[in-house]
Amino acid sequence: MDNLGRYRETKVELDKVSSSMCAAKWNQVTVHLGTGMTHSCHHPAPHKIPLSEIASNPSALHNTNFKKSQRNLMLNGQRPKECDYCWRVEDAHISETENNVFSDRITKSSEAWALPHIQSLKETPWTANVNPRYMEVSFDTTCNLKCAYCGPSYSTTWRQEIEQHGAYKLGDGGLYDLGWLESTGQLPMPITKPNPYIDAFWQWWPDAVKDIEIFRITGGEPLLSKQVFRVLDYLIDNPQPQMEFNINSNLCVPKEIFNKFIEKMQIIKEKNAVKDFKVYTSNEAHGAHAEYIRYGLDYQQWLANCHRILAEIPDSKLTIMAAYNFLSLPSFKLMMDDVIDMKWKYTVQPHRKNPVGLDVPYIRWPEFLAAWVGDFNKHLPYVEDAVTHMFRNIHQMFWPPLCGKGFFDYEVNRFERLYYTIREEMIKVGEDKPRLAKLRGEFAEYIYQYDERKGTNFVEVFPEYGDFYNECKEYSKRFNEGEFKK
Ligand code: SF4
Repeated sequence: MDNLGRYRETKVELDKVSSSMCAAKWNQVTVHLGTGMTHSCHHPAPHKIPLSEIASNPSALHNTNFKKSQRNLMLNGQRPKECDYCWRVEDAHISETENNVFSDRITKSSEAWALPHIQSLKETPWTANVNPRYMEVSFDTTCNLKCAYCGPSYSTTWRQEIEQHGAYKLGDGGLYDLGWLESTGQLPMPITKPNPYIDAFWQWWPDAVKDIEIFRITGGEPLLSKQVFRVLDYLIDNPQPQMEFNINSNLCVPKEIFNKFIEKMQIIKEKNAVKDFKVYTSNEAHGAHAEYIRYGLDYQQWLANCHRILAEIPDSKLTIMAAYNFLSLPSFKLMMDDVIDMKWKYTVQPHRKNPVGLDVPYIRWPEFLAAWVGDFNKHLPYVEDAVTHMFRNIHQMFWPPLCGKGFFDYEVNRFERLYYTIREEMIKVGEDKPRLAKLRGEFAEYIYQYDERKGTNFVEVFPEYGDFYNECKEYSKRFNEGEFKK
């Protein structure tokens, strides 16, 4: 069955439980041990894990009382507010010719770690503790980059910038005020101090790992964390052949650390200590555009390390995650061409069928970086053109020389649905002048301070956005003068 058929079948299975059911709420978790936050899946805002809950139950890293209440809503056909990422896609105007567009509620629930378990979740009391099938963990937030859409809760380099320059000033508010982040529990603990969440993780791990089908480490930059190398050593000593092992990396760490990582992974693969191995790396633009968005990135180093993963670790896989945002639009096609090159080089039928993937989720916070801050007529064509480029480079299932050497239907589907979401939001924003002025004004204010602090030059890197930037500055002025206040 093709992926679209599987999505349709999954929707039928979910509807048997309720109209808002999503298996990811039970079977998938992302835990941020540095801040003591958790969420299921990774789209809803993370919430604090109460220390009182992990004191008696380390699985509360996943099974907080709050999360259980969200599961209860789903079992009763109600939509948890925190899942707006999916409701927005499901509520977007979809015409009859566009009805092959599915939200992550469906696509995630169709995965092997979710679909076979949907009906048993219906029978499970909503108060029960469950082990996730797909666990994503961040041990700490040490990171050498400070991406435009990230922040001090997730990157130590970002935190240093805010400590040095203070919060960004936007309109009459601020972004990344450390005092506020601390008061709301969103600042990580210093890695030199004892961390009860990491202790709870290692207590829960020997039991949890038995049920995990996919284990994924995220960061910060995971390759800069000692805990990550402890996991690699655990897997060398305690093989988990049922488990797929994935790791996120910006692939721009010092060479000696990268070499050590490659060596450990070669041992793990030689021992068959995991079922499969994949690296997820973020990039959503090409060359100087990518280096502007992901401050600290060296695009050529990143690309060379993508090739090293694929060439030096047997049967490894690589997925490029594009946090698609307004700054991605002009050069996204060029980055896609690098992905296509890798697909051509490392796909070897029938042994290595799908080593390279491209996943295109979208940035919705901070909203002034969302793609829909742009203009419907001037900027939506970039998105349309990129989706067209993807359609033109679809792999050819029935012609062996081209099989796997291009994009798969699920990759296209995800990007296509993003086009509709952006189109819908651009229309809505265009009709709501105060929202438009606020978003564009904040965009200009953020970019101005970004350049001041980092010594970058937005207009030099993005000359195609020069006029738009000036318009946004004008919006900032008018908004702050109160023109759009109701
Ligand atoms: S409904 Fe969407 S946002 Fe909510 S858990 Fe499922 S996939 Fe994630």
